[in-house]
Formats: sequence, C-alpha cells, structure tokens
Amino acid sequence: MSKSRIRCEIDLDKPGLQKGYLRLFHSTHASAYGFIPIPIMTAANGNGPTVLVTAAVHGDEYEGQIAVMKLFRHLDAKAVSGRIIALSATNLPAALAGRRVSPLDDLNLNRCFPGSPDGRPTDQIAHYVESELLPRADFAIDLHSGGSSLDYVPSTLAHKPADKAELERMVALMRAFATPYAYFVSQPMGEDRTLMGGARRAKVPVLGTELGGGGSLSVERARIAAEGLVRALAHLGVLETKLPPPKVKTKILEVAADDYYVFAPARGMFEPLADLGDHVEAGQPAGAIHSQEAPWEEPRTVNFTRGGVVLCKRHPSRTERGDCLFHLGSPLNS
Ligand code: CA
Repeated sequence: MSKSRIRCEIDLDKPGLQKGYLRLFHSTHASAYGFIPIPIMTAANGNGPTVLVTAAVHGDEYEGQIAVMKLFRHLDAKAVSGRIIALSATNLPAALAGRRVSPLDDLNLNRCFPGSPDGRPTDQIAHYVESELLPRADFAIDLHSGGSSLDYVPSTLAHKPADKAELERMVALMRAFATPYAYFVSQPMGEDRTLMGGARRAKVPVLGTELGGGGSLSVERARIAAEGLVRALAHLGVLETKLPPPKVKTKILEVAADDYYVFAPARGMFEPLADLGDHVEAGQPAGAIHSQEAPWEEPRTVNFTRGGVVLCKRHPSRTERGDCLFHLGSPLNS
C-alpha cells in the first residue's frame, strides 16, 4: 500500500502513556494549512499483545467513545502488558457532527476500507487504519452501536471463523465482554469495505460490538460498554483489572443469512409489532407501515420470514421502502 499522508504526533512504538493527534491535513477556505486533529492514545509496557481499539467509526454512536475515554483518562501504563492503541473518535468530523457519515465528504468510514492516501478525508482515515494501525495489531476491538437509525440489544459480534478453536477463543472473549447477547455473522453488512474487512485482510482477529443505539445513551448501556471493554482487554492479557467477573451469561447466536433481516415494504410510519429481545416465529407480524398520504388505507404489514431473537430494530418511526426494520439472531450452529 502507498504511504499515508496522515502524520502521527506520537511515536506509536514507544513505551509509556502517550496522547496526541493524527494530523489529517485538510486545506479549506477558513484554514489554508490546517489539519483535522484525530485524537490517538497509546499505553505500552513490557511484553504482550498489541490491541487496537476504535470507536466512532460512525459519529452517532456514543457508547464506545465514552468507554475509551473512561479507560484512558486514569490509565496507568504499568497496568498494561503489551500495548493498547486507541482512537476514541476514529472519524472525528463525523463524531463532532454526531452523524454516521462525515460532513466533509458524506462518506461512511465503514464503507471506505481499504481507503486511499489520495482520497477524501474519510478515505484517508480508512487507509491510515489499514496501512499503519492494523499491521501493528495482534487483535482489534471495533466499538459500534446502532447509531441514529437502529437500536440494538447490547451485543458483541464477530465474523464466523471456519476453525473451531478460533471460534471458541472468540466465544470466550465475548463472554468476558459480557453483553447479554453475542453473535457471529456469515455475510457481514458492508462486505469487505469495513474496518472488520481490513482486519481480515491484515489477518488480525477482531471483535465488534453493537452496544445500543438510537443516537443516545442509557445508564445500563454506558456501564456495559465501559466494563466490557476493560474486561475484554484483561481477557486478552493486555490489561490488569480489579473488576469482578461478569454476572451476565452471554447468549451466543448467529446471523447466518439474508432472511434474518426485515426491510420496509413501503414508505410511512413504522409501527413495530415486536421489541428488542423478543423471541419471534416465522410468519409472525414484524411491523405495520401506515401511509400518511392515505390514512384510510389498511397499513402494509411485514412478517418475519424466520424465527429468532430480535437483536436490532429500526429507531425512527418514519421509514422508506428498503430501510432495515429488524434483524434477528438464532442459536449458534457451530
Ligand atoms: Ca455502527
């Protein structure tokens, strides 16, 4: 890959605790020689794995951003064995705007991998993560949630590995993170254009999360995110923690095919007929779409085409044909 044009203010390979910025130069009318300052933090000490932690790949997902901030504010490098490299606001312009996509180029960072050093700002961030950070990592944790348009039962997720031992190692890590649910995906959304896709190219195992959503936070979800991140890093051997073992026994599911998803069949107001965490059957009504233009017409109903647990639900009521309304998970068939 050609070299990134982004300059890192800190030496990623130096021991100790470091905080600084990635300088993504962006010459505008208001700032001819200015850069976009993407915060980067490292904590390195002794021997151990390097874990890359990313949050705000989507700027309207807050659980992970706050979890990374809480981790680093009072982190003592002596509690680290190996190295943690963290980006609390991977797509900073999107994070400052509280939007999924960057206001600078309207691009979704998680559809830009492997990126380009000569592309628009979001392409350049993807390229930096893939060419400079993932090659340094032994493991990656990419913290997401449902953002503005989706709401999730707090979950962790990973690509389903073919190798049984690899799958069991990932299940153990999911249990350490201790969200109520975890799931394996066979055909991830965004295919190989995501950070997870980049991690697969770099042969770096990666744990993803969907910690909540709705463009908001709750007491419970913020706690799950912060404690889960610390416990996962401890499980990977890179961080000491005094946290007690989790009380939650994570249910392990999979999202194995297209029929796990329900999409809106029409434009209108989406009335959900199932809630997060519900167990549903094939043929059960999922939602009714009410037309605001023809209020006297019966709503269009849409059914679940298979059974499972409701992991994800559309957050706003207004919907367009083609929007994702739900996705399910089913018990892992390993
Ligand atoms: Ca996301």
